[in-house]
Amino acid sequence: MCESSSLLGAMGERRRAHAMLFPFPCSGHINPTLKLAELLHSRGVHVTFVNTEHNHERLLRRGAASGGALRGREGFRFEAVPDGLSEEERAAPDSTVKLYLSLRRSCGKPLEELARRVASRGDDDDGVPPVTCVVLSGLVSFALAVAEELGVPAFVLWGTSACGFACTLRLRQLRQRGYTPLKDESYLTNGYLDTPIDWIAGMPTVRLGDISSFVRTLDPTSFALRVEEDEANSCTRAQGLILNTFDDLESDVLDALKDEFPRVYTIGPLVAAMHGRVNRANGLGGAAAGLSLWEEDFACMAWLDAQPAGSVLYVSFGSLTVMSPDALAELAWGLADSRRPFLWVVRPGLVAGGANALPDGFVAETKDRCFIAEWCAQEQVLRHRAVGGFLTHSGWNSTTESICAGVPMICWPGFADQYINSRYVRDEWGIGLRLDEELRREQVAAHVEELMGGGDRGEEMRRNAAKWKAVAEAAAAKGGSSYDSLDKLVEQLRLGCQ
Ligand code: UDP
Repeated sequence: MCESSSLLGAMGERRRAHAMLFPFPCSGHINPTLKLAELLHSRGVHVTFVNTEHNHERLLRRGAASGGALRGREGFRFEAVPDGLSEEERAAPDSTVKLYLSLRRSCGKPLEELARRVASRGDDDDGVPPVTCVVLSGLVSFALAVAEELGVPAFVLWGTSACGFACTLRLRQLRQRGYTPLKDESYLTNGYLDTPIDWIAGMPTVRLGDISSFVRTLDPTSFALRVEEDEANSCTRAQGLILNTFDDLESDVLDALKDEFPRVYTIGPLVAAMHGRVNRANGLGGAAAGLSLWEEDFACMAWLDAQPAGSVLYVSFGSLTVMSPDALAELAWGLADSRRPFLWVVRPGLVAGGANALPDGFVAETKDRCFIAEWCAQEQVLRHRAVGGFLTHSGWNSTTESICAGVPMICWPGFADQYINSRYVRDEWGIGLRLDEELRREQVAAHVEELMGGGDRGEEMRRNAAKWKAVAEAAAAKGGSSYDSLDKLVEQLRLGCQ
């Protein structure tokens, strides 16, 4: 008997909990929300996972790969709502801001109607229980009002580290205390960003510049700063805060957050390999646990097969980072000068012109030890025995995936919580190095050597990475802190439908 049906039996007369999950429509939010959905389903919760119509259609067009997963299965359905964007807005350079505003403006009603429609459909025929709770990712706090309209509790899966969340919560105080906005451009480079901040509960003294990218504004009405502040603070309206981290990794800051939020569920790392048991039970392979918005290049796996163990540096900056052609060239020549094999994801949109923007002569110079992909199955890549290091933008999903694979990192943060994540990677967890904001080929090559070479520091980072991998696995295993926290979350969801 599968775990979900035995749990249903144990629930007896109780109505089955039904979670409607709605992530902000980008990879960094969809991936962990989907993994949470899988975990809830494996514990007997009925799941409706809501994408935007644009992404839903994009996934369907991809056919068997990610499109097939959208068929859903018993107790797990995919639905879609319009995002309200025109094609022109979708193509604009600030399309993410436009998407955020459009969802706020136009998505509440469709979500509410969807929740009611799924329920009434269920009452009539196929036994779908009414929606009993709404689970949101960050950046879609407008949907808290949907839960209020429906009269059901809301939970927020805030997709950053706990330290990233604590810093985002404090942006308001930083503004009120006059740390930000900056007085003028010179403050970006005159050492001001090194100002120590020692009053964030549960956190060590950190540099102002490491709190978040959003402190780097000169604009007193900065839209991005206000959005981050509002989104983080709106979590107090939810019944529970769900974090993709585990207790041992961030114990101090979690203790402090628990003083502020009565219900914090630490259920991470939400990385497919941590939950292999779930995927097997559902008849899904590990890769199918993701809804990849881009086509994955699996040829890179064969290339990795041919490389010696621990020899390859994997380079990727996630789904949103944009680089200037100059920064791209410095990175490219730094990788070339490192003389080590590397697999580099040059996503369409990473730089104007994509892979065509690589500097002249670079591909010829590195052709024997380089593989360029547009997108790959990152979790599988990181767990490949050939991969020995990860040059990353320190997005939280990438960071947790690297921790779970036991791979040390070179961090090049540039946005939002990426700065504080890389601060912890280097100084608190001892599993990485950090590049300066302005990329220089000499530093890139030197850091690659330090991470991948046989020196003491590289050895120490590899040892620490192996330790954190084991701690992460213990947290997700039966009886571990994340496993127990998920149990508590499921129990709370069930209470909501008695
Ligand atoms: N990712 C992937 N293939 C790639 C690059 C990234 O599957 O070639 C996935 C990665 O595994 C992670 C997500 O995209 O789950 C990126 O999330 P993250 O929080 O690291 O960064 P963001 O894209 O939000 O900046």
